Amino acid sequence: MIGVGDMVLLEPLTEESFINNLKNRFDHSEIYTYIGSVVISLNPYRPLPIYTADKVEEYRNRNFYELSPHIYALADEAYRSLRDQDKDQCILITGESGAGKTEASKLVMSYVAAVCGKGQEVNKVKEQLLQSNPVLEAFGNAKTVRNDNSSRFGKYMDIEFDFKGDPLGGVISNYLLEKSRVVKQPRGERNFHIFYQLLSGASEDTLKKLKLDRDLSKYNYLSLDSAAVNGLDDAANFRTVRNAMQIVGFMEDEVQSVLELVAAILKLGNIEFKPESRVNGFDESRVKDKNDLKEMCELLGIEQSALERAFSFRTVEARLDKVSTTLNVAQAQTKVRKKVMGVLDIYGFEIFEDNSFEQFIINYCNEKLQQIFIELTLREEQEEYVREGIEWTNIEYFNNAIICDLIENNQNGILAMLDEECLRPGTVTDETFLDKLNTICADHQHFESRLSKNSKFLTDHTLPHNCFRIQHYAGKVLYRVEGFVDKNNDLLYRDLSQVMFKANHSLMKLLFPEGNPNKVNLKRPPTAGFQFRASVGTLMKNLLTKNPNYIRCIKPNDKKAAHIFTESLVCHQVRYLGLMENVRVRRAGYAFRQAYEPCLERYKMLCKQTWPHWKGPAREGVEVLLTDLQIPNEEFSYGRSKIFIRNPRTLFTLENKRAQ
Ligand code: ATP
Ligand code: MG
Repeated sequence: MIGVGDMVLLEPLTEESFINNLKNRFDHSEIYTYIGSVVISLNPYRPLPIYTADKVEEYRNRNFYELSPHIYALADEAYRSLRDQDKDQCILITGESGAGKTEASKLVMSYVAAVCGKGQEVNKVKEQLLQSNPVLEAFGNAKTVRNDNSSRFGKYMDIEFDFKGDPLGGVISNYLLEKSRVVKQPRGERNFHIFYQLLSGASEDTLKKLKLDRDLSKYNYLSLDSAAVNGLDDAANFRTVRNAMQIVGFMEDEVQSVLELVAAILKLGNIEFKPESRVNGFDESRVKDKNDLKEMCELLGIEQSALERAFSFRTVEARLDKVSTTLNVAQAQTKVRKKVMGVLDIYGFEIFEDNSFEQFIINYCNEKLQQIFIELTLREEQEEYVREGIEWTNIEYFNNAIICDLIENNQNGILAMLDEECLRPGTVTDETFLDKLNTICADHQHFESRLSKNSKFLTDHTLPHNCFRIQHYAGKVLYRVEGFVDKNNDLLYRDLSQVMFKANHSLMKLLFPEGNPNKVNLKRPPTAGFQFRASVGTLMKNLLTKNPNYIRCIKPNDKKAAHIFTESLVCHQVRYLGLMENVRVRRAGYAFRQAYEPCLERYKMLCKQTWPHWKGPAREGVEVLLTDLQIPNEEFSYGRSKIFIRNPRTLFTLENKRAQ
């Protein structure tokens, strides 16, 4: 074993020794390290030979602490508790952009697929589950400065199993795709992969049908300077994606429809407008060169003159009524006797030079995940000791609930204020929103907590114009308000949605139900922020009903490079992920705990007095058992309803004896 495989056993425990241990292991290609049952994963930025079929076999049906740390151990543990103990699981993967979350989620999925049931039907389901990844990544991932394959949406997938543990299917929920990327990408970044894949990978024939030119430079939406990405073969990936779409269940004509839409977007980006004076003295915008417009309309079966009119005019409507609160959020699915393993791979925390609404939403989501981690791992752990009457000294940790509240509070949270502003009659701009924010967050006495020195809404004189700053758990982030109101409103002028709805293209129609003229009374759609808050709320509730398994991903360097371990960078992540607190809580406590009854049931065969039946209370049975096995006293503690075992090794001893 290189260094210490479980930080709980690290001696002495300091931040320095913690980082050194990670570095030492990383230098020896050991990218996984435990904190108890939490897996820390360092991105190696190179293929490692540790994901082979042999490795899968090695980890299969083995106890968590038995072999060297591996993501497969976590996947195996989660799968077995799901199958054998009927406990729904969730795999929570966190870490910043480029830390390896998506790769980790795929490793978990492929491990589970490899070890769960066999047979033709089951294999088909597995294939579909796995092949959903390339499809989602093509449309939802892009090259950013941080990550060549950055997820620009959050993903939560519930994999459902039957009572035997065979997979039945999956339910995927997506969270807020960064739509703005379609029209504009930051310098050095690309649009979503699918555009490049299509242009480089499609056959001449397909391109012709789609009225596309292979030359990327012909399209305004594809920034030229960053089109080629090292190690990314767009053409080959296009074939993978097409194949995956087929496996997932798209019919040939559906694939075609999707590609037509992709092509239409590229055309749309090329349409330019020019002002044209009208008799009444007003300028009106007109389409400059009509060829792209014409081709776009042909692709989608839209009447050209209608679209042109919709581009140039706007029917002004009275402001619509308030946000409907009966928002129907994703996955109200019934769960009749299905076992579920949820895998959450959500965009990592982002701090850019220029942060907008998207970063605000992404970082809010990360705050919520950190909350779950704190609730379940740190707070719950401490509270359980108190509940069980086990001696315990409190450990200080930063609870980010206050930041979540600042953002999501119903009355005066930032999102609520943004919504209020978006719905207010009169002139609403990003500036009026910012004024409101500053007034409410910084002026009033009854928001004392926000004003106090612990305030997470930071105001100081260095704050640039048009910005606000938040002290997130992972660092300070400066947000520029430009675009907040528009992005939150997320409205398309009705004239446009009506034209789209009229398209002679069934997929297109489906995407613009609000353009249906028979539904003119449609309520104002909820704002982007409101929807996001609601769906994150539902997600959190869902996660809290499951047994959590954590993968904490760490990015070793900023260069996307192998073999480089930048200590300062790792140290920063270790701090904000709260890993030191995590170890301390774990160490002060007990690695393993179980209610007396199942514990006795599992190990009673190891002792003559408890086998085959123990007549007294289960707790006494466990006492008899552990005494008989000569487990040292300091190794365990008797809680009110559970036995607590300090060291995971004790557990192996028991498990090994069982296996003999
Ligand atoms: P984002 O938040 O931007 O989506 P992420 O945390 O999902 O980031 P990934 O896309 O999973 O990051 O990882 C970035 C890249 O790092 C991968 O494309 C891959 O090249 C490399 N990588 C990550 N994990 C591994 C691994 N276990 N083995 C080899 N390479 C890896
Ligand atoms: Mg990702």
